[in-house]
Amino acid sequence: MAIADPVSTATDTLKVYRHYIDGRSVAPAGDRYYETFDPFVAKPWAMVAQGDARDVERAVQAAHRAFNEGPWPRLTASQRGALLLRLADLIGPESRRLAEIEVRDNGKLLAEMAAQTAYMANWYRYYGGLADKIEGAVIPTDKADTFNFTRHEPLGVIAAIVPWNSPLLLSAWKLAPALAAGNTVVIKPSEYTSASILEFMRLIEAAGFPPGVVNVVTGFGPEVGAPLAEHPLVAKIAFTGSDRTGQLIYQSAARGLKRVSMELGGKSPNIVFDDAEIDNAVKGVISGIFAATGQTCIAGSRLLVQRSIHDDFVKRLVAFARTAKMGNPMDAGTQVGPVTNLAQYRKILEYIDIAKGEGAIAVLGGGKATRPECGSGWFVEPTIFVGVKNAMRIAQEEVFGPVLAVIPFDDDEHAIAIANDVQFGLAAGVWTQDMRRALNMSTRLRAGTVWVNTYRAVSYLSPFGGYKRSGLGRENGQDMIREYLQTKSVWISTAAEVPNPFVMR
Ligand code: ADP
Repeated sequence: MAIADPVSTATDTLKVYRHYIDGRSVAPAGDRYYETFDPFVAKPWAMVAQGDARDVERAVQAAHRAFNEGPWPRLTASQRGALLLRLADLIGPESRRLAEIEVRDNGKLLAEMAAQTAYMANWYRYYGGLADKIEGAVIPTDKADTFNFTRHEPLGVIAAIVPWNSPLLLSAWKLAPALAAGNTVVIKPSEYTSASILEFMRLIEAAGFPPGVVNVVTGFGPEVGAPLAEHPLVAKIAFTGSDRTGQLIYQSAARGLKRVSMELGGKSPNIVFDDAEIDNAVKGVISGIFAATGQTCIAGSRLLVQRSIHDDFVKRLVAFARTAKMGNPMDAGTQVGPVTNLAQYRKILEYIDIAKGEGAIAVLGGGKATRPECGSGWFVEPTIFVGVKNAMRIAQEEVFGPVLAVIPFDDDEHAIAIANDVQFGLAAGVWTQDMRRALNMSTRLRAGTVWVNTYRAVSYLSPFGGYKRSGLGRENGQDMIREYLQTKSVWISTAAEVPNPFVMR
């Protein structure tokens, strides 16, 4: 492929990744690089450009130029859509390779990441198809001799700031609608998982996107993310990450009067009633908390279980969770992988200690995993705490690890009261065979997504986002392209003569 290669080999052992700006691989202005780690072996596997405000400036200027000049603003919506469709077609053959790179960086299971990178093509296909279906309206005006219509126009430069748990997928959620709408983008990947999005730039080029339309600046949050969010030429910030960083970004957006959409943390309840199909509920609860080693914003980290079945349910849960095979995330047989980074590993272990200190009882796990198959990696044992009260920190704060807090409830009212008594509201699960109960619960749960008798279903077709401190705005689905558009109202006079301005009409 005759394209600028964002990857070059600078040492015998470690790959080197540089920024991708204006269609080219670019060395960081400060000439600094940092090591990115493979969490399975706790060793570095590549070097990544450590950007700063100068790199951000370069990337935003490139994106701003590409928005205003050159081929991109002249493309029709159909032509933009065609580029996205071509990109979607290019993803399939590359999806496994991209997934392997992500696993190297974040330690999530290859089986999950490969499914995710393949599924990701749907976002580009869906928004590619949508690009030329955004129609304005002719407004029936109340003024004589006027014609008024609306058009929906792109915003400008979008800053996409993404986390490490699903780097390419969460980039696609932003990139696909942003590009379909005609914006240009600067992506700031997580410092822990920058490689896959840089490799993805090869596909962006091969699809035929003009230089500057998509740029990537790597590095740390305060050094790259902050100046990017603050940059006056950035029109909107699309963010997924922690609520702490979300607050900083929101402040920055307020100063610049920028638009934001943000998807933040969660402390989602998985609610099991005594009329549920118990085997299904056990599987749903397990997948809700132990998939991705609990490192998903939608993790069902609070299990609310009806008191009448509490003991039996916990027994079954523990028995099932005990069968989880830990080990190399690249192996097809592994079911629980390592934690992505050392800081997160320490944080999870700290939360386990906090829970014990609060009086919760670990009926499974409760510390680091020392199984031989875990080697020197950052592994935490799948952990289940009983005796949890909803006011405890383990029930209120996002752990982002394989730690489940079990809380009993008496009836529907009690379940709702506990479920909604957190500052987050990203998702919730309900397990029951009673349709009326399912509908009532789905109405009363203060969460952006409610799953009934399933958990973790997410699609390009369906809006996703948070209530309360779990976020602002939504991603996915048709309407969400509006988050990347602004509406212009155009008035045209058809009067032969402009009336006398001193005569009020
Ligand atoms: P997580 O714990 O999920 O990594 P963070 O909020 O720390 O969540 O990180 C999400 C993204 O936000 C990462 O790309 C990170 O580098 C970036 N980030 C961190 N701090 C800031 C900041 N002050 N301003 C902008 N972006 C930041």
